Amino acid sequence: MPVSGLAPYDEGNIFARILRGEIPARKVLEDDFALAFHDIAPQAPVHVLVIPKGPYVSVADFSRKASPAEISGFWHAVAETARKLGLEDAGFRVLTNMGHDAGQEVPHFHVHIFGGQPLGPMLA
Ligand code: IMP
Repeated sequence: MPVSGLAPYDEGNIFARILRGEIPARKVLEDDFALAFHDIAPQAPVHVLVIPKGPYVSVADFSRKASPAEISGFWHAVAETARKLGLEDAGFRVLTNMGHDAGQEVPHFHVHIFGGQPLGPMLA
């Protein structure tokens, strides 16, 4: 079920549980600001999610409430994840879903990184 990107933060959401180590994840990168891990249902040869460590529901929530250090740290982690995955030369796509109309399923801000093949017009 799609979620609201404006709802209060739910500490029980699945990505919060991954951050707390309650659920395993295939990690690509972890630092002070972000965690990157493989999507459980990949839609491309490479499909990785990057999430901030702070409790933000959506891109709007993150952009309004996160500190400049959190925001720059998060985007640094996105770029570093793509580099670690070997996607920089061929290219990749970064996408985020916010709220019902975009089909956001997990109410913890995340970006999808897609790559590993020429990508069609839309994914996720
Ligand atoms: P959204 O539709 O943008 O919210 O994307 C949520 C993504 O999380 C989907 O691509 C799911 O496949 C992925 N996902 C859900 N649960 C897990 C999990 O436990 N581990 C890794 N990925 C997950």
